[in-house]
Amino acid sequence: MTERTCGELQNRNILISGASAAGPSLAFWLHHYGFNPTVVERSPALRVGGYAIDLRGTAVHVAERMGILAQAREASTDLREVWFVDGRNETVATMDANFGAGPGKAGDVELLRDDLAQILYAATKDSINYIFGDSIASLSQTDDGVEVTFEHGAPQTFDLVIGADGSHSNVRRLSFRDETQFSHYLGQHVAIFSIPNFLNLDRLWVMHYVPKKMGAIMQYGSGKHTRALLMFSSPKLDYDHRDVEQQKNIVRKVFAEEPGWEFPRLLEEMRDAPDFYFDDVSQIRMNHWSNGRVSLVGDAACGPTLITGQGTSMAVVGAYVLAGELASARGDYRAAFASYEQECRSYMEQNQAIALKAREVRLPDSWEAINEQNELLRAMRAAPAGSPPEDSTGDIIQKAANAIALKDYSRLRAR
Ligand SMILES: Cc1cc2nc3c(=O)[nH]c(=O)nc-3n(C[C@H](O)[C@H](O)[C@H](O)COP(=O)(O)OP(=O)(O)OC[C@H]3O[C@@H](n4cnc5c(N)ncnc54)[C@H](O)[C@@H]3O)c2cc1C
Repeated sequence: MTERTCGELQNRNILISGASAAGPSLAFWLHHYGFNPTVVERSPALRVGGYAIDLRGTAVHVAERMGILAQAREASTDLREVWFVDGRNETVATMDANFGAGPGKAGDVELLRDDLAQILYAATKDSINYIFGDSIASLSQTDDGVEVTFEHGAPQTFDLVIGADGSHSNVRRLSFRDETQFSHYLGQHVAIFSIPNFLNLDRLWVMHYVPKKMGAIMQYGSGKHTRALLMFSSPKLDYDHRDVEQQKNIVRKVFAEEPGWEFPRLLEEMRDAPDFYFDDVSQIRMNHWSNGRVSLVGDAACGPTLITGQGTSMAVVGAYVLAGELASARGDYRAAFASYEQECRSYMEQNQAIALKAREVRLPDSWEAINEQNELLRAMRAAPAGSPPEDSTGDIIQKAANAIALKDYSRLRAR
């Protein structure tokens, strides 16, 4: 294939909604091929929050091709261990920090979500137009483009619009159907927020289970944040995704029933936490990720839930393929969107399946189940190191993380 010049590209002006993992990754590659992406992000600045995320398997190769892998490794969390503790903070089981992904994960990188977002933003901010503090209000497709109105900015017409705005995607709501059509609740809710390092931990996760609930304190080293995670099983709750006080009240009510361990202290810290993040653990499953000139990538298209640990890798890989297919098709979006789905769907589905297959991702519902879990953890710790056993969580994750062969789009680079 010969190199193409940007002059041959159709549909160059592309609006991307969302500046977390998928949006900036897509913008990076689109710009690289000669397209002209604009990113609109609802938050007034890059959104902080969450704990660590992983770049695993194929996503590591994409990060390498983007030239950000060294920075990602430099920012890696270097977590030491995970401690499972009882109500008095006595350790009942421990795990290697590489838990879940298994020893096959050599080369994978764990880093803070905030750090990755910064790295991706830094790699794109000088070449790409970012609009912070705004959101798409309406989308109207014509034969020639998509007319976009914004909550604040002036209306504009773009050739294509891509939703990279997460599992509660605004673009998906405006161009496809209501979220309830695509969202599959997996039985849990989760809250994450910054806390002081009041237990003086050093690169440790401390986890405590009670039936149907779990608390974790995650410390990522000096100069890095300490965050609390509170998780609980329940029927799906009805709440406003933008009403933080309402969400804090839900968490307060659920954990007020737990006077033990550090739960009261964590609720106290939650009160003023500036980066509080709350979500139901729900997967996004869609038959198609594109509708005319509008497409979706990352969690917006196929959010696997944070319990898989694969959302970021899927976002980075999906962005690479979507941009590469648009470049291959010289901007013919119909052909490109179809090939993007064909290339990625099986990989995305295998990663989503982690949440359904891996037993560690469920919250035990009785003290008996918690004791069984601790027994299992101790047995795993005592087992000889080596490849993860077939069908262990580590094995399932590693297979899924590598379940796509990346095409080489490098010859399509714009001159
Ligand atoms: C605050 C936060 C904390 C998270 N914490 C974790 C974690 O601890 N562990 C984990 O595995 N995953 C976490 N996730 C999810 C994880 O980031 C994703 O699964 C993964 O990185 C895929 O990213 P994404 O870019 O597709 O979506 P997301 O990371 O969800 O990003 C979506 C982006 O779109 C923006 N957005 C939303 N609505 C609009 C709108 N109307 N207009 C413009 N922009 C909009 C959001 O502010 C956000 O920046 C978190 C996500 C967020 C937003």
